[in-house]
Amino acid sequence: MLDANLADRKVVQYVMNRFGIHAKHRLGQNFLIRPDVVAAIAEAAELSDGTPVMEIGAGIGTLTQALAETGADVTAFELDQSLKRVLDHTLEHYKNIHIIYEDVLKADLKTILGEKDWHCAANLPYYVTTPILLTLIQSGLPISLFVFMMQKEVADRILAAPGSKDYGALTLAVQFDCTAERVIDIPPTAFIPRPQVTSTVLKIRRRERPAVEVKDRKLFFSLVKMGFGQRRKVFTNAMKAGGISADMVKAILEKADIDGSRRGETFSMEEYGRMADAWYELIHE
Ligand code: SAM
Repeated sequence: MLDANLADRKVVQYVMNRFGIHAKHRLGQNFLIRPDVVAAIAEAAELSDGTPVMEIGAGIGTLTQALAETGADVTAFELDQSLKRVLDHTLEHYKNIHIIYEDVLKADLKTILGEKDWHCAANLPYYVTTPILLTLIQSGLPISLFVFMMQKEVADRILAAPGSKDYGALTLAVQFDCTAERVIDIPPTAFIPRPQVTSTVLKIRRRERPAVEVKDRKLFFSLVKMGFGQRRKVFTNAMKAGGISADMVKAILEKADIDGSRRGETFSMEEYGRMADAWYELIHE
């Protein structure tokens, strides 16, 4: 298969027929059939000779091949063991690809990734997009750049501005540690089988320092959870429902100079940060 482009529709169809592959919906198997899209993902991943890059969900090897063609050192995860005989064939000529047949969420990533600085690229399985994204971002793993294809609706939530309908806990969870930018939107026709929704590739880069410096990130994210878990409540009531005493709620809001009659979805990251620090200082007074 050395000369075949695994993103070519005819090649994908040939491989699926030859190996009798029926895409498994429960594993989010939608295989890309657009060489330009695959090339755009590989390019956005900023790879060169020897860059360690991790892929999630090799499938039949489509993106894996494009990543390997840059000369990067590719470590790909694939949960579906039955694809091993396919990948052994489609990627047989590449010496710079290592495939691990494991659930990426259960793999010992700390040991596998070690100390190097990794990039990560994936056409993510949509049933598990958010857990994968948050695990990789929040677990302190040494990955500085993510290029992820996901449902457009999830990408819009990550990119959202305060006060907009898409703004939520996911926005802050990603933007706290990373910057995010849209690379390209992709229609369902770019896949076999076609998903129900439009997809988006995002480039997510880890910040050198969090977007707001807070004294305790757990307190920050507790407030975020209260703010968006109870979207209809004014923030004073959301905080009380979250278990903070009425006196403490008043003290936090006063110290942070925040109007508690606003809803949690209107606060910027900086405002959540101010409240988290006020809470921290009041606890430690
Ligand atoms: N990279 C290929 C492409 O772009 O055509 C396949 C992408 S497909 C959307 C997602 C792939 O992730 C599937 O091959 C699926 O079996 C695999 N997968 C699903 N859940 C996984 C998990 N938890 N860990 C690793 N791979 C997973």
